[in-house]
Amino acid sequence: MTDQPVVLTLNAGSSSLKFGVFTVAEPPVAKTLGLVEAIGTAPVLRLSCGAGRALRAEEAADHSGALATVLDSLGDALPGIGVVAVGHRVVHGGPDLAGPRVVDDAVMEEIRRLAPFAPLHQPHNIAGIEAAARAFPDAVQVACFDTAFHRAQPRLNDLYALPRRYYDKGVRRYGFHGLSYAHIAEVLRNEAPELHAGRVIVAHLGNGASMCGMIGGRSVASTMGFTALDGLAMGTRTGQIDPGVILYLMQQEGLSVEEVSRLLYTGSGLLGLSGLSNDLRVLEAAGTPEADETIAYFVARIRREIGSLAAALGGVDALVFCGGIGEHSARVRGAVCDGMGWLGMEPDHARNRAHGPVISTPDSRVRILVIPANEELVIARAAAARVGARR
Ligand code: ADP
Repeated sequence: MTDQPVVLTLNAGSSSLKFGVFTVAEPPVAKTLGLVEAIGTAPVLRLSCGAGRALRAEEAADHSGALATVLDSLGDALPGIGVVAVGHRVVHGGPDLAGPRVVDDAVMEEIRRLAPFAPLHQPHNIAGIEAAARAFPDAVQVACFDTAFHRAQPRLNDLYALPRRYYDKGVRRYGFHGLSYAHIAEVLRNEAPELHAGRVIVAHLGNGASMCGMIGGRSVASTMGFTALDGLAMGTRTGQIDPGVILYLMQQEGLSVEEVSRLLYTGSGLLGLSGLSNDLRVLEAAGTPEADETIAYFVARIRREIGSLAAALGGVDALVFCGGIGEHSARVRGAVCDGMGWLGMEPDHARNRAHGPVISTPDSRVRILVIPANEELVIARAAAARVGARR
């Protein structure tokens, strides 16, 4: 019996490896999704088609080991599958990789060249591609870039007011979470074409959080810029900050480059401001003044960005929430939308508590929606479309 062909999707984070197994079809259908968490420390494997299990440290000492363990488990859980394509989430595609690419030597070289632009993410994506190429030498490897969706933004939204030589070296506003925004655009195109054609603000609120303004399903502006640090406060990242604060920290507080980097990426945001946790569920349950103020700050930044993106779009027809917080926190969504009547947003709080999908009143000029993020589907679709393509 020949193996059933499937697409494997991989999303390698700093200490996690998310994966999915999809049919080769249009649209691809997920056979299973899962992840390995805490790679290198106390790894755990969770499979949607089976129970999670703690791994021995040596079973997932690094991404390559984690992938081998995942493949073993998939072999047990889904016997008879044959991986014909592997789709990878790659955080940075730079100025030129503006769509999914079959990974050949030139593409791999470009992905490696861009690693300094995303030093905390890109090396893990590279490790994922290398591990998959070893495990499936005959499968086509397809890289899908988080920056690609934003590359067609108007030039003014791509610029910083720095001397032009830095732009030429790649210091531009790239924007991230593009695979998530591409999925939302696709859902709107299929289910609400009148909104898809219009001006839409999407708030992807997870551990990483950003917002995107789109018209006709194309990105016009985004809150993240050169790196995934800008814009909203996140689980552990600052979001927007006066660059002068960084100079102060280095010149007056004597922080090294590494210390500033750690502070901005892993010690700030919800965790830093609350002094409690990066997990919104913990903050919502805590009810302390610091936790409540942290949530209020998170919400206030989202509200300001809605104003900014509405200005960039020339108005707004729909607001979409996605990501772990966007999909599950009625408190955050309600607080974001309350008092936004001046912009035509009228939340329906009963619908909001029920998590939508529509959470605006019938009279609201702006439609407010909750749509689950599904980056894996976007990756699977891109990889399935290239089955049979050769390196
Ligand atoms: P990542 O960016 O790592 O993919 P997710 O999209 O899974 O993150 O989002 C994680 C965030 O979602 C965490 O802050 C978590 O607290 C929050 N979250 C998940 N479920 C809920 C819930 N039921 N209520 C409130 N927040 C939630």
